[in-house]
Amino acid sequence: MADAFATITQKRMTGGFRIDDINGKNIHVDPGPGALVRSYQFGLNPLNLDWVMVSHSHTDHYSDAEVLLEAITRGMTRKKGTIIGSRSVIEGYKKWGPCISKYHLSKPKVVIMEPGDEKKFGKIGVKATKTIHGDPKGVGFQFKYENFTLSYTSDTEYFEELQREHKGADVLIASVIRAGNERIRGHMCADDFGALVDGVSPKLAVMTHLGMKFITDNPEGEARRITEETGIKTIAARDGMRLDLDEFLSKQQTLDEF
Ligand SMILES: [Zn+2]
Ligand SMILES: [Zn+2]
Repeated sequence: MADAFATITQKRMTGGFRIDDINGKNIHVDPGPGALVRSYQFGLNPLNLDWVMVSHSHTDHYSDAEVLLEAITRGMTRKKGTIIGSRSVIEGYKKWGPCISKYHLSKPKVVIMEPGDEKKFGKIGVKATKTIHGDPKGVGFQFKYENFTLSYTSDTEYFEELQREHKGADVLIASVIRAGNERIRGHMCADDFGALVDGVSPKLAVMTHLGMKFITDNPEGEARRITEETGIKTIAARDGMRLDLDEFLSKQQTLDEF
């Protein structure tokens, strides 16, 4: 008999996404497994990051946060960078987190955001949006810069207030893990996302964090269906996909999904 082996594949990568050059800042959001490696693969330099943001205490959102903080602080030798996270991620809450060691929190600026908090970082505003998911302290993030608003739901199930939480978004990014109306507790399916897109009315809607089953269920077809039903351009993120935020902003900005 041949040697047994198992290969674990990441059909869709779990490295989160990066927003580059928003008011001169480079931000990595939810750096899960592969975030560091994929950054290099897609031609992005982790050394030029300014912020790392982690929405909640699940491994697929935080596992590479510490290595990215090491990149920012040049191996923890400089006081540099900012880590923004939920209370569970930074301090721990009941059985959730903490997700980042005290050592890795010792050099960057550390910011805890609770659902509903709004903070200003220079010209960039960040609001922590509500979620209903396993981690009770989990948040999404809404960024405001000049006339541009980018909203990220993170992992959450659909609830009525979610539309209000993400109101005003020009670009709406959401974790959508199943096609059609296949609801799973704590997560959105494509039909839920369609309702959210309809309510929020962004200029562009992006489904990310697609579940393994959804990937084989034709996510592009679901994106087309939502586009037709809502009249709002909707896309399914692909690994390494790059969105030009130029049409929403005066200056060159890019967002990379991985
Ligand atoms: Zn999660
Ligand atoms: Zn997740």
